[in-house]
Amino acid sequence: MTATTLDKDALKKKYAEERDKRLRADGNDQYVRLEGRFEDLAADPYTPWKDREPVTDHVTFAFIGGGFAGLVVGARLKEAGIDSVRIIEKGGDFGGTWYWNRYPGAQCDTASMIYLPLLEETGHMPTEKYVHAPEIRAHCGRIGNQFDLYKDALFHTEVTGLEWREDTSRWLVKTSRGDAFTAKYIGMGTGPLHVAKLPGIAGIEKFKGKSFHTSRWDYGYTGGSPDGAPMDKLSDKRVAIIGTGATAVQAVPHLAKATKELLVFQRTPSSIDVRNNEPIDPNWFDSIATPGWQKRWFDNFVDNQSQGFPEEDYVMDGWTELSRRIREKVRQLPPTQWTPDSLLQAFEDADFEKMEEIRQRCETVVDDAKTAEELKAWYRQLCKRPCFHDQYLQAFNEPGTQLVHTDGQGVSEITETGLIANGKEYEVDCIVYASGFEVGSEYTERAGFDPVGRDGLSLSKAWEDGMRTLHGVHVHGFPNAFIVQPSQAANLISNVPHNIVDHADTISTIVAHAEAQAFNTIEPSIAAQDAWVEMVLSGQGMLIGNTECTPGYYNNEGAGLTEKNRHGLGHPGGAKAFFAHIAAWRESGEFKGLDFS
Ligand code: NDP
Repeated sequence: MTATTLDKDALKKKYAEERDKRLRADGNDQYVRLEGRFEDLAADPYTPWKDREPVTDHVTFAFIGGGFAGLVVGARLKEAGIDSVRIIEKGGDFGGTWYWNRYPGAQCDTASMIYLPLLEETGHMPTEKYVHAPEIRAHCGRIGNQFDLYKDALFHTEVTGLEWREDTSRWLVKTSRGDAFTAKYIGMGTGPLHVAKLPGIAGIEKFKGKSFHTSRWDYGYTGGSPDGAPMDKLSDKRVAIIGTGATAVQAVPHLAKATKELLVFQRTPSSIDVRNNEPIDPNWFDSIATPGWQKRWFDNFVDNQSQGFPEEDYVMDGWTELSRRIREKVRQLPPTQWTPDSLLQAFEDADFEKMEEIRQRCETVVDDAKTAEELKAWYRQLCKRPCFHDQYLQAFNEPGTQLVHTDGQGVSEITETGLIANGKEYEVDCIVYASGFEVGSEYTERAGFDPVGRDGLSLSKAWEDGMRTLHGVHVHGFPNAFIVQPSQAANLISNVPHNIVDHADTISTIVAHAEAQAFNTIEPSIAAQDAWVEMVLSGQGMLIGNTECTPGYYNNEGAGLTEKNRHGLGHPGGAKAFFAHIAAWRESGEFKGLDFS
């Protein structure tokens, strides 16, 4: 099928109708946090709490967050000879998102070869093209051990305060465990998706059965284990799962096999493309894993997502496939017609074709025609997180699995014994909330602390009109502080670890320079920061924030980008342009825009 044979106007109309059904005035406010209101659901089910004495010492570098960001920055600092590195982590071990997300079937969605950081440094060969969560968590432990990051780490500890002390040029770090220690440098890598949320459905607190969020999976109740042992305690249970995002897509096939009955409550279908997972052949791996291989793979992935015509696609996953299709469309045009408009047209046509293919897959795979129809996604592929799976649609062929399609309205009420949707009550033993993580709130609200820099300036105040950084990393008024996140930088959402590895290279290079020269402080000049923010804001957001899309966290639940959250865009030239810029900036050794004293 090609775009020329599709009725594009009819599709656009259908997309708009489906979006309109889902727009709601309360936007992000429809969700509630676990913490505060549902403490029992927020508790860590994985690692027992250990009492310890408060820490009151001094470290060279304190990093908040023990996920990939903290681990990779920590590793790079150690490589650079900075030995005193303390990671503070709210979970009971390293891993971040992979510490919490132990739901059955969890696996990476971007190819492991570029998703797992520091593969070359650790010598680990991923076992599968898309590895499962236990291997990712083990890799986090491997990095922690290899770079001796466990030694000074504080687990089950949340930072409550960060304050710059001008007199000593040190940060004072305070935590939920009574710690009050100082650090010359701080890093923050709390991740975008770490505050679990529940749908604020009326009556949610009334339910008397079992319930939990997917990031706090209760294997005590379900039986089985995160390592894939079957959930043998569910065979007599009627279970509901709320949500059909990337998490549910991975968990549903396992629940469908384990439960007596599974009810999947769907508000908006995800697009489910082919996964094609396969084991990695050690001989093949040995043949490509020559020095510098992972950087070549990172670069190749980015090349394949940028304009231009790279000769090879090493990664060959769902993300690069869309780009390949767009390139093919562009190639069919004479070079004189390679205008921005025709590129956008090629993008749109490739998208229509891809989504039609994905919709047809529902018909091919799902036996029941009505269910197949209801599982079809009516929006552009990048309006919501694209999903790739070869057992999710198939799960609806299991005799006990039922799709409760709510035509965009969702579950309307929760009772003592079940859920109400489409005006009908469904009694269940257990509700699994696959309702995602908070995204639209302020950085400091999600982080749970508000750093106070020079002259008592808080980060929330400094960013009251929108985020302001140099390179997404440094903030004027916050000396010796580094933020690890993708905005105002590469914004490579399809492979978040690449952003992290790159920022870690930047931070360790700068800190090593400051230490070698015995500098006390590092801070971006206001002029450099302003110029950088202005450059970022000159770009377009592409589909992120697009109000033509169905609501979701990609477009601020349908509200689109406000002037304030437009500040979260990436480099206008795309990820490739950012990585090239920052590599040259690092290599020059001049660190233009930063003041050292
Ligand atoms: P999402 O935010 O993507 O999904 C939440 C789901 O809950 C949506 O389907 C939403 O519907 C639904 N929902 C909310 N309220 C209701 C209601 N009242 N009734 C019925 N349904 C409701 O969360 P996920 O945890 O699935 O994924 C979050 C992100 O985490 C992903 O986008 C991805 O970035 C990341 N992730 C990555 C993975 C990987 O790389 N391997 C795996 C899993 C997650 P609606 O769509 O209508 O809003």
